[in-house]
Amino acid sequence: MTRSDAQPRADIAILGGGLAGGLIALALRRADPSLSVVLVEAGDMLGGNHRWSWFESDLSPQGTALLGPFRKIQWPAGYDVHFPEHSRRLDSTYCSLSSADFDAALRRELAQSTIHTGRTVAAVDARGATLEGGDRIEARCVIDARGFILSDAFQGGWQVFMGRHLRTEAPHGVDRPIVMDAKVRQHDAFRFVYTLPLAADQLFVEDTYYQDTPVLDRAALSRRIDRYCARLGWEGEPIGFETGVLPVVTGGDLARYQREMRVPGVAMAGARGMIAHPLTSYTLPFAVETALLVAENRDLTGEQMAALLEAHARRVWQRTGFYRMLGTMLFGAAKPDERYRIFSRFYRLSPGLIERFYAARSTGADKLRTLTGKPPVPISRALRALAGHRPPLTSQEGSQTDG
Ligand SMILES: Cc1cc2nc3c(=O)[nH]c(=O)nc-3n(C[C@H](O)[C@H](O)[C@H](O)COP(=O)(O)OP(=O)(O)OC[C@H]3O[C@@H](n4cnc5c(N)ncnc54)[C@H](O)[C@@H]3O)c2cc1C
Repeated sequence: MTRSDAQPRADIAILGGGLAGGLIALALRRADPSLSVVLVEAGDMLGGNHRWSWFESDLSPQGTALLGPFRKIQWPAGYDVHFPEHSRRLDSTYCSLSSADFDAALRRELAQSTIHTGRTVAAVDARGATLEGGDRIEARCVIDARGFILSDAFQGGWQVFMGRHLRTEAPHGVDRPIVMDAKVRQHDAFRFVYTLPLAADQLFVEDTYYQDTPVLDRAALSRRIDRYCARLGWEGEPIGFETGVLPVVTGGDLARYQREMRVPGVAMAGARGMIAHPLTSYTLPFAVETALLVAENRDLTGEQMAALLEAHARRVWQRTGFYRMLGTMLFGAAKPDERYRIFSRFYRLSPGLIERFYAARSTGADKLRTLTGKPPVPISRALRALAGHRPPLTSQEGSQTDG
């Protein structure tokens, strides 16, 4: 890229090489290798420092095929959950991808001219983007995938977590993920520890909280991970970590957000486009679905792509209203230390219903089944929570994700 006008106009410019942007670039490459695509990422690596996980059942066959080039870990023997009242083993195949493997595969698969890491977008318009330093990228279609923006158009709470990658001194003997261990002290939140056995001597242990504020107390979480590992006899050396503060959207006004965020003629994808599971914050299946949609419609103009992805975000918003309601109940109806009861009861339901919940594809019958029976929280508090308002997602300390 140069400061001059010599830079040829790309077919599609994707701004932000995170999960959404990277997958869109890959889907476009597979759909038509002759398209000229530019992917601009501020960091040195695509995907940042994350580990993304999902259930195999979250993806369509096309989605599974799109993830084919990535080295990922799969646990076909299923996963465990633990609550004070019960434990359960479920058969669904769980999968996980590290951002290092995401970056490596994209660098193998995408054209060399596509990837521009270490470049920060300063301004965006329908014809392209201006980078810090003044370089200009021109494109027929511009897709902004630069991650979530806090907005007071939404209300909700927070999912805060710290994960530690540990090399154990001896084989740890854990043979499948523990997706939720809520038998831990709750500390004024819905807290659970999440464990992935990445290899015979490697574990990823993540301490997660659904809490009212975006505060991440690194020292406290680190000590709690120490204690959890010590209790289970997992001694070893930390070889990596990640932290996250993610919004859990329980309500809001998507149309207002779109109006306020819209740059005419520029499409928004990923968390920036609010295309996510509001309760679990698992967005990989959504990012895959969006990438396939963009690739199918790769010949659209920027204006048409912007309209297509706004309409897609609206459909996702409508489809996920049930999960925002459950989030409202989680934060508002249960005392913080008793929030776990909602998931404890949920995890007694049928495996198919649980799979559809994570895929955000709950049927009408699933929704009814989730809400009927002995309520895990007092009905009066649940009704008050549904009638009340959660705080807007900007009024607090802000969110952060890093490694
Ligand atoms: C630590 C962590 C773990 C998660 N785990 C899971 C999980 O297990 N499963 C799951 O489905 N979801 C998970 N999520 C949630 C969700 O998948 C991620 O937030 C996801 O990465 C969102 O994708 P995205 O592409 O929209 O945003 P991001 O992946 O955040 O990508 C946005 C990219 O844009 C870049 N960028 C921002 N500003 C600029 C700029 N001005 N110029 C150039 N580049 C810019 C950023 O550097 C970043 O790489 C996790 C999130 C975090 C933070």
